[in-house]
Amino acid sequence: MNNLEDLLFKEITKTPNDILWDLKKRDPNKVVTRIAPSPTWFFHIWTLYTTMVDEIFAHKNNWILFLRSEDTDQKREIKWAMKKYIDILNIFWIRFDEWPIWENLKDVWDFWPYTQSQREEIYKTFIKDLIKKDLAYPCFLTQDEINEIRSIQEASKLPTWIYDNYSPWRNASFDDVKKALESKKEFVIRFKSPWNFTKKIEIFDEIKWRVSIAENFLDIVIQKVWGLPTYHFAHVVDDYLMQTTLVIRWDEWLPSLPLHLQLFDAMNWNSPKYAHISPLVKLDWDSRRKLSKRKDDEANLEYYLENWFLPKAILDFLYNMINAWFEDWRASNLDKNYLEYNFELEKMPKAWALVDLDKLKWVNSNIIKNMDFSDLYDTLVKYLEKYETEFYQNTFLKNDLDYNKKILKELQTRLVTLKEYKELTTFFYNDFKITEDVKKLLINPKMKIENLDIVKSGLNLTLEILTNTKKDFESIDEIKNIFIDEIKKNDLKNGQVLWPVRVALSWEEFSPWAFELIFILWVEKSSYKIKKLLDVL
Ligand code: GLU
Repeated sequence: MNNLEDLLFKEITKTPNDILWDLKKRDPNKVVTRIAPSPTWFFHIWTLYTTMVDEIFAHKNNWILFLRSEDTDQKREIKWAMKKYIDILNIFWIRFDEWPIWENLKDVWDFWPYTQSQREEIYKTFIKDLIKKDLAYPCFLTQDEINEIRSIQEASKLPTWIYDNYSPWRNASFDDVKKALESKKEFVIRFKSPWNFTKKIEIFDEIKWRVSIAENFLDIVIQKVWGLPTYHFAHVVDDYLMQTTLVIRWDEWLPSLPLHLQLFDAMNWNSPKYAHISPLVKLDWDSRRKLSKRKDDEANLEYYLENWFLPKAILDFLYNMINAWFEDWRASNLDKNYLEYNFELEKMPKAWALVDLDKLKWVNSNIIKNMDFSDLYDTLVKYLEKYETEFYQNTFLKNDLDYNKKILKELQTRLVTLKEYKELTTFFYNDFKITEDVKKLLINPKMKIENLDIVKSGLNLTLEILTNTKKDFESIDEIKNIFIDEIKKNDLKNGQVLWPVRVALSWEEFSPWAFELIFILWVEKSSYKIKKLLDVL
């Protein structure tokens, strides 16, 4: 054996042509895009955002969207993370046209496998070919040797990396490589960059348009010590074989684009188009910074779910970050499918998009306000069951369905998230001990209540009205009319009756209005609470 490619890749017997000839052709008129996450347990809001961008453009335009699992970084690979990823996306109704099936190795679509760790032989076939063409080479440098090269470069103020004359194995002889292999030295495969000094190139990006970036002159690793390729190489091969025509990805990859284009060139392939999405940022005092997985709760998608933001609200909030006029359209198209909005790649933010939680709260409360009531009730039940099991079992379910519904109906216009439900309804569900604080709250000069006698007459009048009402009230207005009438007849001021009633029924300063409380609590519960307070006055 006297050629390098066979020496390094004995086990690879196929050639690139064997793979390319077998390849099915996609419809050339279709844009093909993909989302290619690396499986990890942490689900960044950013991942949802980028997936949505792909999904919107794909499904709005009848393109193809496939999902690929980029798990070549085996140290990080977590077996079920990809399943979790798909499950979470299901919550957001995000669909793919093709995706990896992890239970059995063979996916059902033409371009399988969609999991990179299962494509090792394919990558090696192409790497072997690059070696044959002298466009890649094995590198046996140890970490110590790399550090040494780095210090020499630092001393001469040169870029610190492996390239050109600073890559001892770049032009090593066949015999040297053979000897290194025989001595069982570990090696990586590096790409032989055709460029050898810094210059800027201009590229066109579908979001950012003309961008000027540094050309790549580094001999980047394309195959790691343990045999799997790096992201740079693997995605080039996959995007070619899976016939991706538009790569939408985050702009951290933008500086690597010149390398990727060199790799496409080296393989003699046309590259797809690229669209690089700007990062999500937050305001930190008066400056902006990228959302950080370590510092910011809101970087984690679970945070939004645990705080009971509705998936629909999270989506609308993110759509608006994708195209800033979405919100205006949504205001007059509440029930329309988002795909009816004219999203445009070039209208995406070119530098950053701000994650503003107040905005999300606003979107969420608006959706709650406009939700069909029975949907809202079902959603609440689902959330309570999942996140407030104790309250759900021991309080919510123990009460009348109608009672729960009345409460929710009352709160529908005020809830920012459903999480507030439990907190805002304690006085509907619980019986408290009347404390001195409550008594203090009753005296309220602004309402012309200077002493407890006034409180008592207000409460007694209310009891009288409630006792005379045989049935429950039909509407809040009905209660209001009766009360206003009676208060006038008894020569009292509205506040002198309604304030004590509000305190008696809620034991809180900030609560719904007296009429609303009576309407929800009904005659029986309202009378009971008022009597209870009167007893201690
Ligand atoms: N695996 C890469 C990542 O998670 C994918 C980038 C791409 O879409 O090409 O960042």
